[in-house]
Amino acid sequence: MISPSPSPHPDPAHPARREAGTVVVVGAGPAGLAVANILRAASVDCVVLETESRQFIETRARAGVIEEWAVRELGRRGLAGHLPQRAELHSACEFRFAGERYRFPYAELTGCHHYVYPQPLLVTDLVREYADVRGGDIRFGVRDVTLHDLDTDRPAVSYRCPDTGERRLLRCDFVAGCDGARGVTRDAIPERHRRIARQDDGIGWLALLAEVPPSTDCVLFGVHPRGFAGQMPRSPGVTRFYLQCPPGDDPENWPHERVWTELRERLAATGAPPLTEGRIVEKRVLDMHHYVVEPLSHGRLFLAGDAGHLVAPIAAKGMNLALHDAFLLGDALVSYVTEGDGAGLDGYSAAALRRVWDYQEFSQWLSDIYHGVASGDPFRAGTTLARLRRLFSSPAAAAAFAEQYLGTASAY
Ligand code: FAD
Repeated sequence: MISPSPSPHPDPAHPARREAGTVVVVGAGPAGLAVANILRAASVDCVVLETESRQFIETRARAGVIEEWAVRELGRRGLAGHLPQRAELHSACEFRFAGERYRFPYAELTGCHHYVYPQPLLVTDLVREYADVRGGDIRFGVRDVTLHDLDTDRPAVSYRCPDTGERRLLRCDFVAGCDGARGVTRDAIPERHRRIARQDDGIGWLALLAEVPPSTDCVLFGVHPRGFAGQMPRSPGVTRFYLQCPPGDDPENWPHERVWTELRERLAATGAPPLTEGRIVEKRVLDMHHYVVEPLSHGRLFLAGDAGHLVAPIAAKGMNLALHDAFLLGDALVSYVTEGDGAGLDGYSAAALRRVWDYQEFSQWLSDIYHGVASGDPFRAGTTLARLRRLFSSPAAAAAFAEQYLGTASAY
């Protein structure tokens, strides 16, 4: 239960310039910016701390697929920005296996779409709304962020200013830990108060961004004996591609010619239009690993987004989960601060984790499909192909897949 607890000790170890506020949000990704905007809209005072510059976060390319329920929620809160005008609406994806193409029309099955809107555009919209429109306090380029007194009812966050080197301490009522997979807030929870469940698929993906138009109007999944390959449209002139590779592989092992040869081979199918080859502007290897922190809160600290759970981009779920957490946490903080109602904060972790675990399970299932044929195990390859064929022969299997892929279950 959120209730007053022992007062914080003074800060003899932190001779820092002090300020006070209600909520400190650590991290300005989709999760932190959505929480901050919700607080700001309810006139709950908050400060956002971000280690990178505004320009950096507004151009960092990552996700691109947003589920329709998340778009609706953003819109309801006045946070959709340019998304309704600029996002591409997708209604199908295509699997390629055994040399053939299989189009999966998920919008026909669920009535819902995927919105393709690159993460940097969403972040740009959210920063503009928070800082420029709603006048919110956001501090970029901060260093050495440290959390203090989480077990008290007045925790604090300190950081070093980038320009002066001065240390500042922000006293607050709550800390929102939204600093992603490499942040510090998760580790501020003592080990005895948290469990981190981890899964490593032992697989790498070479993640590429290329300045080329997509070869089809939808996402492509190539399930091939040489390994998985994917094509995810991002905009009319930019496409993301993935190629399965050994975990920890060096991107330099993948020169231009090798990349395009593998993509052509793994995405080949009867009647498929040729891939447009072009300049690769980003190339890095992502290891397919996942974790979940339980619970997502400790004292006055609440984790949201990748800070609390990482799901590899197998099913395009991470940013959607980050937004889901942010909607729950933002609303719960507002209820507590404006009405004294702590039910939302007390139930936050359990409510958020239900969707997190559901999406993790779906990503595992899809990971088995993507990687089974190339596993070298003929039994696993056989069951993978059976699962794939079932999606296109059984209406019940197709409906279940579409519901999970679009995140449209009525309850989690
Ligand atoms: P982040 O976006 O990581 O934001 C955290 C912020 O905190 C960052 O700005 C960081 O600079 C800052 N920070 C870090 N440490 C500190 C600190 N100590 N103090 C202050 N600030 C700090 N998800 C989807 O839903 N759909 C997709 O299609 C998809 N595709 C992806 C493709 C790739 C290649 C990758 C890598 C990811 C993809 N994802 C996708 C996942 C998605 O990008 C993440 O899940 C999402 O960014 C999580 O948002 P977040 O706000 O929790 O964390």
